[in-house]
Order: sequence, then structure tokens, then C-alpha cells
Amino acid sequence: MRDSVNAAYIHVPFCIHRCGYCDFTVITDRDDLLSIYLDCLETEITSLLSEPHPVETLFIGGGTPNYLPPPHLERLLSLLHKWLPVKLGGELSIECNPEDFTSDRMDMLSKFGVNRVSLGIQSFQAEHLKTLERGHDPETVVDVVQRLRSRGFENISFDLIFAVPEQTLEDWETTLERALQLDPEHISTYGLTFEKGTSFWTRRLKQDIKSADEELERSMYAAAMQTLAHAGFEQYELSNHARPEFRCRHNQVYWNAEQYFGFGPGAASFLDGERAMRYRSVTGWIKHVQSGESPIAERETLTLDLARREAVMLGLRQIKGIDLATFEARYECTLRELAPDAYDNFFQGELLEEKQGHLRLTYEGRFLADTVVAEFL
Ligand code: SF4
Repeated sequence: MRDSVNAAYIHVPFCIHRCGYCDFTVITDRDDLLSIYLDCLETEITSLLSEPHPVETLFIGGGTPNYLPPPHLERLLSLLHKWLPVKLGGELSIECNPEDFTSDRMDMLSKFGVNRVSLGIQSFQAEHLKTLERGHDPETVVDVVQRLRSRGFENISFDLIFAVPEQTLEDWETTLERALQLDPEHISTYGLTFEKGTSFWTRRLKQDIKSADEELERSMYAAAMQTLAHAGFEQYELSNHARPEFRCRHNQVYWNAEQYFGFGPGAASFLDGERAMRYRSVTGWIKHVQSGESPIAERETLTLDLARREAVMLGLRQIKGIDLATFEARYECTLRELAPDAYDNFFQGELLEEKQGHLRLTYEGRFLADTVVAEFL
């Protein structure tokens, strides 16, 4: 079964500081843990894999993987090169923060065959970067992209955030235009969310910060879809747009409910029908690995019913939708049988449609994706 696992995710939890909206597994001001983290990561990987396991996609996410000082980054990439080598023609992605993205780090990525860099840019306007508590400015992004290009990186993705407090539709359009001027191969756009436990959540409760109005957020999402389509990007997922041939292959593994390894604090894996979540506390994860205990905090075996519903949730995120024949063969039921009333209502309401053997959200349905998906869960 493990031979068929072709993807792996590695979580690097270190960041310069915690941004106010962030609820990822992140640790700051703990450089004393850098080497210990790498020791534990090596232990975790080698305890699961008895021999190197080549993969088609490897995604190094965070946190901020490029926060690692060059010697630590080299150790991480060497470890992965040995135990999870990326097959010829495969995808090796890394998430990077433009802040402090030094040229020696870029050279290190190049040396180890990283072929996709995803930059957490979020905005091209200084005031919104400040609101988001990001430490870089728009000029830094231009410089980072130029230095990556000069090193031959041909697959660069931008993460952008809309519905930032006080951001206007025109501001968002400016960010999209400035992103396009740098000619990335891939753009992800996310509406800002206020997650419980973040400082943004508390600040909103205290009315110190305000979320964007629903209509404005809708207009911003529509602007992203239209502007990027006009610029030749293909939207292939609710939040993701790519130039032809530049879709993120690793994320498609998740959306197609395929198997993947996960290593590091807070990382999830999906193997043999079981989803396993590692401890989110970095020190908790370290403690478990060091003492020889399992770093897995929660396990969930997907029953057939859960697997079906999850396939709908992930499949409808993709613009092409769900292949009806494949779904029926894999999950032994039709999609309509899962939620007959909702299915019919969404068809009549023109939120769902069938096209070329696929069930997918209509353009209007993309704005109400959460509502549609909820009826199948
Ligand atoms: S840089 Fe990214 S991962 Fe780190 S705190 Fe900010 S949003 Fe979170």
C-alpha cells in the first residue's frame, strides 16, 4: 500500500513573528529549538520509512521554511533529498516569506532542486501589509522575485489576501495588477478569515478591527476571478489560478483524496484510509518524538460514508468538479443519493451543474461553496 504514496508534506514551524490573523502551527523566538526540531524530524521520518521513499510531490510548508538559517536549511534539504527524494519530473515546493529571503538561502534551494517557490506576499500595499502585521514591503517582493528569476526559478506562486480591514475594491485591484506585472506562474487568493485564538479574533471582539462587509468581499472575489482569467490564468480551484501547466500538483493530491505522508508538528498524513494529525504544539511534538512516543495526537479512520462526503467537499473545490463515473465506482453510490433534496435544490437554484460527466459548482455557486458543501456533510 505504501508504494502507492506519491506525496509528502513537511511542516517547518518557525517564523520571525506571529501575524495577527495566523492560526497555523508556528513558533517564534525559539531558535534554540532549530537543531532539536531537525533531529526530531529525522527521527520521525526514519521511524516510519525503513528505506528512502521517492515521491512525485514534496511540499515544504510552514511557518516559514526560509526562516531556517542556511546551515539548518541545508540539513533539512539533505535529509529530505535522502529519505523523500523527488522523482524525475516531480514537484518540490517550498513556502517562503519575502522578509529576509537572502540570496544564500535561494542558492541553497536551487542546489537541492527546489522547483516551485510559493511566496507569502498577501498585498502590494504597505498599509495593508501593516494591518496584516507582515514584516516586508512591496519593494522587497519585486527584489525577491528578480533574484529568484535570476537563479532560474521558473515556477513562482504568489499568495494574496483580500477583504483586509479598510481595504477597498480599488486597493485589491491594484494588488492584483501589481502581482501580474511580476508575471508569476500561479496565484492563490484568500479572503481574510478571523480564527478563534488569533489576536485578530480578539481585536474584532473588542471592535478594534472590523471584517470586510459581505458584498465587498464578494466583489473582491469576483474581481480576482475576472482579472486573473483576463490575464490568461486558469482558475482550477476556488482559490487557485495557474498559467497552463503550472497547477500545484501537490495540492491536487489533497483535493483528489489521494494518500500522502506528513511530518513535523501539526502536519496531517493520509495513509491506508486513516488521517493522522501530529501534535500542534511544537514543544509537545518534540517531547513525544524525543521520548520515543508517537507524535500523532489524533487519528481518524475514514468510513465509507465519511470518505464519500469528504470527496464531495474536496471535489467541489475544484472548478472541473467531481467525475461522476469515478465517484460512483470508488464510493459505491451516486452523488445524488448522498443528499437528494439538496442536490435537486441546488440544481434548480443554479448553484450546481453537470458538465462533461462532472458535477461542479456554477459561477454563482463558487460564491456559496461553503453553503453547498455543508449540505453534503
Ligand atoms: S508568516 Fe505565515 S505562517 Fe508565519 S505567522 Fe505569518 S501568516 Fe503565520
